[in-house]
Amino acid sequence: MIVILKPGIDISSAEYQFTLKALMGLAGIEIQLHTTKGFQETVVEIYLIGDTSHISKDNLEALPGVLRVLRISSEYKILGRNQELNNGFEFEYNGVTFSQNNLNIFAGLCAVDELENAELMMKALHQHGQVCTRMGAYKPRTSPYSFQGLGKACLPYVFEMAGKYGIKVIAMEVTHERHIEEISEVLQQMGNPTGVMLQIGTRNAQNFELLRAVGSQQTFPVLFKRGYGITLSESIHAAEYLAHAGNHRVIFCLRGVKSLFGSPHRNMVDFAHVPVIRRLTRMPVCIDPSHSVGIAIRAPDGLNDIFHATAQGIISGANMVLVDFHPTPPTAVVDSRQAIALSDLNWYLEDIAIARAAYDKRTQLAKQQGLA
Ligand code: PEP
Ligand code: MN
Repeated sequence: MIVILKPGIDISSAEYQFTLKALMGLAGIEIQLHTTKGFQETVVEIYLIGDTSHISKDNLEALPGVLRVLRISSEYKILGRNQELNNGFEFEYNGVTFSQNNLNIFAGLCAVDELENAELMMKALHQHGQVCTRMGAYKPRTSPYSFQGLGKACLPYVFEMAGKYGIKVIAMEVTHERHIEEISEVLQQMGNPTGVMLQIGTRNAQNFELLRAVGSQQTFPVLFKRGYGITLSESIHAAEYLAHAGNHRVIFCLRGVKSLFGSPHRNMVDFAHVPVIRRLTRMPVCIDPSHSVGIAIRAPDGLNDIFHATAQGIISGANMVLVDFHPTPPTAVVDSRQAIALSDLNWYLEDIAIARAAYDKRTQLAKQQGLA
C-alpha cells in the first residue's frame, strides 16, 4: 500500500506527526518514506511493506495528513509504474537531478589505472561542462589473473580530482558491501568533495545479499545494470530488492544481453527496451553503449558503432549514458577495445545533443497527437 501525503506537507506539523505515528503503529507493517522533489512541489509517499490486506483504505484516508491511499497490485510494487502511480521517480543527488525527463552523461574510465588518466579525463569533462563521470575502482573480471582494479587505494586521488574539476557524481561499481564502507569512509575523511552512485554490475544483478546491502543505505543512489543472462522481468524484480530494502533512488541500466546473435558486437544491444523500462517502471533509464557494443569501430558513414548505439538509445528517451573513454585507448588495462579516445569527447557530446534534440521533437509530435 502507498499512502500519499498532502502536497507540500510540513514535516514538523501536527498533522504530519499524527499521521506518521498512526502508520508506525500498524502491527506487522514496515514503513518507508519516499520524498520526490518536483519542480512545483514536494510529494511525500509512505510505503507500507508487509501484509496490508487487513488494513482499511478508508481509515488511512481519514488521517489528517493523507491525500490518498493506493493499494498496489503490480508486480514491481515500489519501482513499478501502474495505473494509480503514473509518475516517474525524480531525485536530486549532490546537485544533479535524475528523472525520466532529463539526460545525464557519465563518460569516464572503465577502470582507474593511473592518477594522470583520471585527471585528464575529469579535466576534459570539466572543459565540456560535464559534472558526472564513471571511474571503476573495483573491477569484476572474468579471470582471477587479470587486473582487478586499484580498489580503495585510488579513491583518495579520484575524489580529490573530482572535487578539483567540479565533478558531482561518479558512477562506481561495488562488488562487496565492504566497498560501500570504504567509499563512505574516504569521502567523509576528505569532506565529501564529490558524490558517488553505487553501481551493481551485470554479474551481480541477482546477488540478493549485495542488493540488500546497497539498498539499505540511503547515502548513495544506485545504478542497477540488467543481468546479461536473465529476463527483463527478472532484472526488474532484482532492482526491486534495492527499493524494498529502502533505497528508491535507483536507475536502471541497459547494457546488452549475452548472445552470439549479437556478434560482432560484444552483446546483443537492447536499447529497444528504453521505452519498455519507462513504461513498466518509474526509474530513470540508463544505456551503456560501451559494454553492449564492446568495440569502438567505425561504420562506412564515419561514425563509431558506439556513437550509433548511443544515439539509438537517446532518440528513444534514455536518461543517462554510461560510457567508457580513455586518454589513450590502446593502453587501457580493462576493456581497451571499447574505449573511445578522449580527443573524440567533443564530437561524442555534439552527437548526443543531436539525438536528444530529435527525441524532443518526437515527443512534441506525440503531444500534438494528444498522446503525451
Ligand atoms: C562496467 O560498467 O564497468 C561493467 C563491468 O559493466 P557490466 O557490469 O555491465 O559488465
Ligand atoms: Mn568495462
